[in-house]
Amino acid sequence: MPTAGGRHRRWPGPGEEIAGLIGAPPGSLYFTGCATEANNLALRGVARALRGRGRHLIISAVEHPSVIGPAERLRADGWAVTVLPVDEYGQVDPQALEAALRPDTVLVSVMLANNEVGTLQPVAELAEMTRPRGILLHTDAAQAVGKIPVKVDELGVDLLTLAGHKFYAPKGVGALYVRPGTPIEPLLVGGGQEQGLRPGTENVPHIVALGAAARLAAAGLTAEAQRLRGLRDRLHARLQAVIPGLRLNGHPDQRLSNTLNLSFPEVTGRALLDAVADSIAASVGSACHADSDAVSGVLAAMGCTAEQARGAVRLSVGRFTADGDIDRAAEVLLNAHAGLSARD
Ligand code: PLP
Repeated sequence: MPTAGGRHRRWPGPGEEIAGLIGAPPGSLYFTGCATEANNLALRGVARALRGRGRHLIISAVEHPSVIGPAERLRADGWAVTVLPVDEYGQVDPQALEAALRPDTVLVSVMLANNEVGTLQPVAELAEMTRPRGILLHTDAAQAVGKIPVKVDELGVDLLTLAGHKFYAPKGVGALYVRPGTPIEPLLVGGGQEQGLRPGTENVPHIVALGAAARLAAAGLTAEAQRLRGLRDRLHARLQAVIPGLRLNGHPDQRLSNTLNLSFPEVTGRALLDAVADSIAASVGSACHADSDAVSGVLAAMGCTAEQARGAVRLSVGRFTADGDIDRAAEVLLNAHAGLSARD
């Protein structure tokens, strides 16, 4: 619509809205079908571009399978892969990263927020180790973008993955931020879409929705994070008051405000969730692979015993969680836990 000045009013496009959310310049985002694709593109695309410079990659022990998988593929192709350990809270030590760097290290990939326990990694401190050495740093921020402030320059990352469905865009759209000038090759060949890095006709409706979701997330970020933290901590306190052996998995405060991963004593997380399935939608691990009964690799890396890992339940609060939901959830979980532990 022409404005008074005679110019056309221009709304920001989805690329600009998402770039704005993560403090990136427009044109540095490449849309993908999901975060899994963005993680694959980051690791394998950089590896292809830099294979002549070195063949050493570093990841953390608590990465999502969509980072571990490509790293394992690279290992099978002859790359050296170092897996950094984490402490009891699930955090990587920047000094351990420094010690693991080698002259042939080309890429480090450490997630910003963990999908099972919510722990935040000291990504900006990791960048202080990689940047001066010209080593690229990728972060899988699928769980973090839209929930906490994320700015690519403050983090110092060269590549960043985001997932639409983690901040209320529809499922089936993600993006990879690539710092301009970063060496990376496409995994697919075809047309020239997404500046040739991700050829194939773009999913325009989903990308538009991703832009709208980014705008909404940016508008309420701080207040919403505070509200969610309040709800989450109230649920934790209600459960802890009655179940003394309850264990929090994840960092007490350097953690996503929506995530509460708890190990319940004397029961399995699976039995507890089955007992409350009519009232509560939660998972024993990450929602992405919630059907698996294998003990969580994340909890194992954090030093949880097998029993603690089997008793773990990941509870999350979100935009549509209200005060009353917390009271109901606490009551239902406490009743189910009392019933199951009395039976054993
Ligand atoms: N990375 C993290 C940290 C995730 O939590 C998830 C999924 O939940 C993914 C990657 C994969 O996301 P997508 O299902 O969009 O491929």
